Amino acid sequence: MSPDELEPISLAQVQRSVADELDRLAPLIDELGRRFTDAGHEIALVGGPVRDAMLGRAHHDLDLTTSARPEETERLIAGWADAVWDMGRAFGTIGCRKGEWQVEITTYRSEVYDADSRKPDVDFGVSLVGDLRRRDFTVNAMAVRLPSRELVDPYGGVLDLAHRRLRTPGTPEDSFSDDPLRMMRAARFAAQLGFAVDDDVLAAMRAMAERIEIISAERVRDELVKLICAIHPRIGLRILVETGLAERVLPELPALALERDEHHRHKDVYEHTLTVLEQSIDLEHRLPGGGPDFVSRFAALMHDVGKPRTRRFLDDGTVTFHHHDVVGAKLTRKRMKQLRFSNDEIEAVASLVELHLRFHGYGTGEWTDSAVRRYVRDAGDQLERLHMLTRADCTTRNKRKAERLRRTYDDLEARIAVLSEQEELASIRPDLDGNRIMELLGIGPGRDVGQAYQFLLELRMDHGPQDPEAAEAALLAWWAAR
Ligand code: ATP
Ligand code: MG
Repeated sequence: MSPDELEPISLAQVQRSVADELDRLAPLIDELGRRFTDAGHEIALVGGPVRDAMLGRAHHDLDLTTSARPEETERLIAGWADAVWDMGRAFGTIGCRKGEWQVEITTYRSEVYDADSRKPDVDFGVSLVGDLRRRDFTVNAMAVRLPSRELVDPYGGVLDLAHRRLRTPGTPEDSFSDDPLRMMRAARFAAQLGFAVDDDVLAAMRAMAERIEIISAERVRDELVKLICAIHPRIGLRILVETGLAERVLPELPALALERDEHHRHKDVYEHTLTVLEQSIDLEHRLPGGGPDFVSRFAALMHDVGKPRTRRFLDDGTVTFHHHDVVGAKLTRKRMKQLRFSNDEIEAVASLVELHLRFHGYGTGEWTDSAVRRYVRDAGDQLERLHMLTRADCTTRNKRKAERLRRTYDDLEARIAVLSEQEELASIRPDLDGNRIMELLGIGPGRDVGQAYQFLLELRMDHGPQDPEAAEAALLAWWAAR
């Protein structure tokens, strides 16, 4: 369901949610509020925690904003916090931990960005409203003063939150000139919160998309990762594609919207990709840590990016994409390098893209054991994700075909399980080696050593691994009883 089809959240509900969350935070915020106000300063909860409190969601770290300068903040929380650290004094942020809480306290800012530079220039500000003015979206530009719990919402954030929409406090054009990364953040928050981006904001994103290029690859990457790991990545990705931002940051994605040929002989690869992504998300419970899992999600997104370049129309009217797996892996590596991903992440995603088709040679189970072993070896530590990707890559509407593919893959996974169990068993050794046996029994090489070795192997098979003392005692008892 798209966000504008949802009922607005009632203001009464918003109020109840905030009150509940503030009660939960009371042990922390009441004391903090008193410390700052007693010293003649202002302090307020701000941004993410206020927004999420209104949505009835717990926000894990607390962001606060204050009139106090960083040195005064440090002095005011000394003796109260369990640990204090400097998060970037130049930007006015002091971090601390109190019990289970991570707290960041930032001095009011009035930020002026140099439109052509990558680095924000920071000036400390003098008022809470001034600080809120420079924030990205109205739903992020609300604060709750402490200890009074007075809500400060100068830009209509509560109403926008109730209608699930993202608007900027000032004009979107000014906001995005100040910091073009906010365009990516709009798509990210839409994906995380399931909110709609206001038409004016979308229009500004379309008009200003090229400005994203002044932003460092690392900042773009971090937003992209958050978007892809969000609960509704499809919403955010569509926004990136429709505004032209994707053309700048991930051009392989819009390129998947291949023109359909007049006979509709092949599926729309772009829609297919978004579906594969969602189906892969549905399989994340298979991973040890559950989800969200960036590597498997990004592999789903990139698995077919080799298709536009490898598409060939044959005379008989069919279309082929030979080697799109290899070409796709190459394009994936190049893009991830440009976005400054780590080598481990790049190799993980690229190998999944490269292997995503291998299963299709499995037919109805004709692979030899050695082909199955090679599949496992080539997937390495990405095996579980390869299972997910291959299963997710089936988007046919033909139920019988889908069911057949699923069962064939079940069969492959079962063969992998059997083989690895056998191979583990084949690699089992007794707890003592030949030299130790000879030393312990005081004998030289010969048949007795072989029999002792067999005895220890049986012991190991029956009872699992033994510690050396137990194995030695068992061996001596066996020897004495002979
Ligand atoms: P989360 O921590 O879950 O990612 P958040 O809302 O806390 O969500 P952050 O990126 O941590 O987002 O930023 C904290 C707050 O700082 C935001 O809510 C927003 O008010 C403000 N903010 C952060 N980055 C920007 C930016 N580039 N431009 C304007 N305001 C920003
Ligand atoms: Mg935050």
